[in-house]
Amino acid sequence: VLHYQNISLCLYIMKTYKGTNASPGWSSSKAFFFNSELNFQKEVKYDFETGLKLLNKKYIELISNLNSSQREVESEIITAYKLILNDPEILSNCRLVDSRDIIGIYDVFISTAEIIGSLEGDYLKQRSEDILSIGKELIMTMQNTQINKIQDEEVIVVAKDLTPNDTSVLNLKKVKGFIVENAGLTSHTVIVAKNLGIPCVIGIDVDNIDSTENSIIAINGFSGEVFVEPDGEIIRQVEEYKLRNLDVKSNYTKKNISQLGIEFRANIGNEEELELFDDKLIKSIGLFRSEFIYIDSKTPPTLKEQISINNKLSSKFSETIVFRTLDIGGDKTVPYLNLPIEENPFLGIRGIRFSFTDEKLFREQIISILSSELVSKVKIMFPMVALLEDFTKAKEIVVEEAQKLDVELPKLGVMIETPSAAIAAEAFVADVDFFSIGTNDLTQYTLAADRGLSTLSRYHDNLHPSVLYLINNVIETGRKYDIEVSVCGDMASDIDGAKVLYALGLRIFSLAPSQAPLILNSIFTSHKKLMHLKKDEILNQKNSQSVRNIIN
Ligand code: PEP
Ligand code: MG
Repeated sequence: VLHYQNISLCLYIMKTYKGTNASPGWSSSKAFFFNSELNFQKEVKYDFETGLKLLNKKYIELISNLNSSQREVESEIITAYKLILNDPEILSNCRLVDSRDIIGIYDVFISTAEIIGSLEGDYLKQRSEDILSIGKELIMTMQNTQINKIQDEEVIVVAKDLTPNDTSVLNLKKVKGFIVENAGLTSHTVIVAKNLGIPCVIGIDVDNIDSTENSIIAINGFSGEVFVEPDGEIIRQVEEYKLRNLDVKSNYTKKNISQLGIEFRANIGNEEELELFDDKLIKSIGLFRSEFIYIDSKTPPTLKEQISINNKLSSKFSETIVFRTLDIGGDKTVPYLNLPIEENPFLGIRGIRFSFTDEKLFREQIISILSSELVSKVKIMFPMVALLEDFTKAKEIVVEEAQKLDVELPKLGVMIETPSAAIAAEAFVADVDFFSIGTNDLTQYTLAADRGLSTLSRYHDNLHPSVLYLINNVIETGRKYDIEVSVCGDMASDIDGAKVLYALGLRIFSLAPSQAPLILNSIFTSHKKLMHLKKDEILNQKNSQSVRNIIN
């Protein structure tokens, strides 16, 4: 007995890793290694026929689970996957190669995908990607590798990379933490994590994490630490955090919000966030990241589908809804939209620039807003505006569509996320109704550091005086010309960021709903000191750390 006890002690010794904290919170759960890359070196556990049987069984179970939880769209997708998997031509070609030759079997899927992909039309191009995904799933099944689809149990996702497209296939309700090697502080996954209150750590070499699929992992999203097989003390901290969080929540009241003279609005960036939103004190959306409607779909959403999502938004939020038009490009791709291949996509055809290249799509989005129930409470804003002309051209299109539909023109605003728009904010005042500062991009463009690169995370600091200087310019311009200014970038969801914004005079915070109690608590407990800070004192600091020091 002693002998085995010693062995088990050795097996369960805690291992600690340090990365960058990206979304606060503590949690612990089973590890889920998200791996969308095939590894042909890995051992083949099952031959083709067994793999085929197992994958068919898995699809059948998934379809039935999805049907019983009324997730028809996903169920239809998996049904189509099952049909493709059992396509007679694919099957007979696979049976021509050795039943354990995964390279040969995958080649069948590649060549089928190539044939379909070479045919005319976006629909078929999309199907060709599906064929490759199914091929990957089959090979992973033959290798007994966990497949990255919908999980049934709570997990901490561990991944080398996680693109917006990858995140869209995860069942976020079950994700208790993210550990992502290649992500920046404002990468899509980090934003999703913050919005949903999921702790996240980035910049850890995940190949070095010594754990198996069954290991328990604890994650500290405040310090960036990750613990494999956490000991009793770590588990105690996770439990204590859960209790402390309840305390912060009890200070989160309407009275405290109005005493501070602030307004909270929600950032909504995907269907789950919309569905899970449940905050009685937030009645408005300050940033609706509409691109998920396009990213989550295999073909362009129809006007009817767009209107139906807009109506859903309207029924969930009774007050203002700030709708950001499609912000595609940068790190967000949509296969059927044929984005140009560029060397520097963050500096390329992105946001409003893309909308001008596909005006039909843009007009349809505007029509979907103006002909839905949103029309009475919507404010529309355009992303990636660098020139006044970007705004006036977009405005012209909205004016035309509003006239055609005979509806009142909604308030139109600019997302301030390029340094040019922040510096020349005054140039916009005669034309715009509001400014909303996107601190994620504003920081990446001001400090010239790709927001997706974890190796540059020390540059992604929106407390840098250069960024604060630009933010202050916009706040001051708004004050001078009586134009509404809000911040919808993640700085508003960050404890130190929100405090600095409050000290600079910002009062409308559009944030990740899960962070609202924490943010309120931190402003509430320090607002008297923050009010006494001189703006110049903040702006004249030499670096982010000294800004942090004076506000704390
Ligand atoms: C921003 O850039 O700050 C922003 C809110 O937009 P996104 O993160 O979606 O680019
Ligand atoms: Mg942005």
